[in-house]
Amino acid sequence: MAASSNSSLSGSSLSSDPEDYQPPIWKSYLYQLQQEAPRPKRITCPQEMESRPKYYGREFHGVISRDYADELLVGTEGAYLIRESQRQPGTCTLALRFGHQTLNYRLFYDGKHFVGEKRFESVHDLVTDALITLYIETKAAEYIAKMTTNPIYEHLGYTSLLKDKMVHRLSRGRTEPRRVTFQRDEKISSPLVRRSALKDTPEKQCSYEKIHNFKVHTFRGPHWCEYCANFMWGLIAQGVRCSDCGLNVHKQCSKLVPSDCQPDLRRIKKVFSCDLTTLVKAHNATRPMVVDMCIREIELRGMKSEGLYRVSGFSEHIEDVRLAFDRDGEKADISASAYADINIIAGALKLYFRDLPIPVITFDLYSKFIQAAKLPNAESRLEAIHEGLLQLPPAHYETLRYLMAHLKRVTMFEKYNLMNAENLGIVFGPTLMQPPEQNALTTLNDMRQQKLVVQLIIEHEDVLF
Ligand SMILES: [Zn+2]
Ligand SMILES: [Zn+2]
Repeated sequence: MAASSNSSLSGSSLSSDPEDYQPPIWKSYLYQLQQEAPRPKRITCPQEMESRPKYYGREFHGVISRDYADELLVGTEGAYLIRESQRQPGTCTLALRFGHQTLNYRLFYDGKHFVGEKRFESVHDLVTDALITLYIETKAAEYIAKMTTNPIYEHLGYTSLLKDKMVHRLSRGRTEPRRVTFQRDEKISSPLVRRSALKDTPEKQCSYEKIHNFKVHTFRGPHWCEYCANFMWGLIAQGVRCSDCGLNVHKQCSKLVPSDCQPDLRRIKKVFSCDLTTLVKAHNATRPMVVDMCIREIELRGMKSEGLYRVSGFSEHIEDVRLAFDRDGEKADISASAYADINIIAGALKLYFRDLPIPVITFDLYSKFIQAAKLPNAESRLEAIHEGLLQLPPAHYETLRYLMAHLKRVTMFEKYNLMNAENLGIVFGPTLMQPPEQNALTTLNDMRQQKLVVQLIIEHEDVLF
């Protein structure tokens, strides 16, 4: 089958300049090997076996010796049968002929058949996959070991689609200081990034680093690895796919792919409860649009509203706003004509922060901030908070910076809205900071520090960011 059946090419029609289109050069060696691999040949038992479990067919031979099984299989590559153990009745062994010897595997069933990690609908599928894997890993062991050393991933640009993807594959080097900057970094380390930087990039470029969200995947039809360009062999679970951007790679290649995931909007189904970095990368934005839009609306018509952020809006209406964002994204209507009560918008913004899978002040930095708030000396307290802020992931840092500047402006209207840094700290403390392990006691113990951290950041927003 031709390489064009690879799903990674299915989007090539989106390419901005179809004239330029050149298919990637997929390496077909492992595909050819898979075609050559021995096919399963079921050796059936001549008698009806009463002890046969209902999930096995005539390949089940009951209790027979290892030697007798060997005799039945000898001479036919791919021949297989199932025998019951003499020593442990009830446990079954798959005997499989490969490489002129009989291999024995303990066979399990729990609704699916398996001998290792991969789980199969039928024993036939299991054997097909085993033969492919054995054949390829025997014949091409050296090739596979070297497969990742010359990845196409760094030389991409074969297809316009992939080129488009590459434009977004800008990332800050891991070793650089975690100071946030929205200019493109000058000291870019990997050749991949260097090359992308030469291309025209869209105006609104965000350079946040994001790891891929790889999950084991079963590919239908032949698939090639987008990292090393080699065929992904096997019948099921041939590789992994990133659920955020759709990148398909071998499991072993997934460990080498840089943290340059560019989430695909079509794969991001929700706005609320979506990881913050994933959302902003999908929208190629600096901050989540929910934050920008709610703050814009509040600054337009809510700054003098008494008890802003403290008074809660109707929860059904807040839920409405959430649904509108999940459904319409940046086209969501949150204007005064849709929601006259500004507390609904403020409530939706708080809900957005509360629903983040990783809070704005991340779980791993949580205790650092709590400890900072406990320091007796005001100056060292601020210093420790500043240090914590610099360690936040860039998308989190930028979102917090923006929110804090807004809350600072809210306090400038205290005369009208009666909100100051202290009571905003009470409102936002537990929303922006959540302990990694929630239990009633830590939550209660830390409340004072959570409030203080947020209060201090609002008060010193201008020096801290
Ligand atoms: Zn990804
Ligand atoms: Zn690969």
